[in-house]
Amino acid sequence: LLETIDGAACGRCGAPLAAGHHAADGECIQCVELSFQFGRNVSLGIFDGRLRNLIHAYKFEGRWSLHRIFAALLYGRNRTYIECADVITAVPLSSGRYVERGYNQSFLLAGSVARLAHVHFMGRVIKRKGHAAPQSSISSRQDRITNLSDTFTARTTHQHSLRHKRILLVDDVLTTGVTASACARALMRAGALSVNVLTIARALKGAAALYLSSNRPIMK
Ligand SMILES: [Zn+2]
Repeated sequence: LLETIDGAACGRCGAPLAAGHHAADGECIQCVELSFQFGRNVSLGIFDGRLRNLIHAYKFEGRWSLHRIFAALLYGRNRTYIECADVITAVPLSSGRYVERGYNQSFLLAGSVARLAHVHFMGRVIKRKGHAAPQSSISSRQDRITNLSDTFTARTTHQHSLRHKRILLVDDVLTTGVTASACARALMRAGALSVNVLTIARALKGAAALYLSSNRPIMK
């Protein structure tokens, strides 16, 4: 069995909240200080243990057919959230990684989720414009968001179909949220009404991992 996020979660980034750690509006300590461009993220589980191994196999060991299982689990647990979207799309891979791997795991997953939910799928809506400064060279999270914010753009051929649409952006893992935020910004600039995010796993780092590590009643 997978460790899924079943209890209270941050209304913004989807991280599970330990009792007493959420702010009045249901956001975690980190999200209160950040300005993400997406509405919220929902994840199946924490990027740890068996789920981490499965995602690793999915991304790096050629187990691309796992997208069907992940999609079924995500859809089964978040049906309303997914069906609220007008359009489902995916975070693009860098072209180098695509050549190396031969598939974009987020694209496959997004397509599967869209088929299950009967929501319009537009795969290659977002493209990378170029390379920002390496994220590892930037210390503050807010600066990382700013650094990546202009890295993505919506393809002009798709802009008409994004206008006034509620978009669900799919990726495999949400770590800092910076990439998803930059993609959401590109979609909003193209006229989207709203952007929510759906990911297989939420990776917890820093403060979030610290305050969750001692208290895991929400994990089944
Ligand atoms: Zn949060």
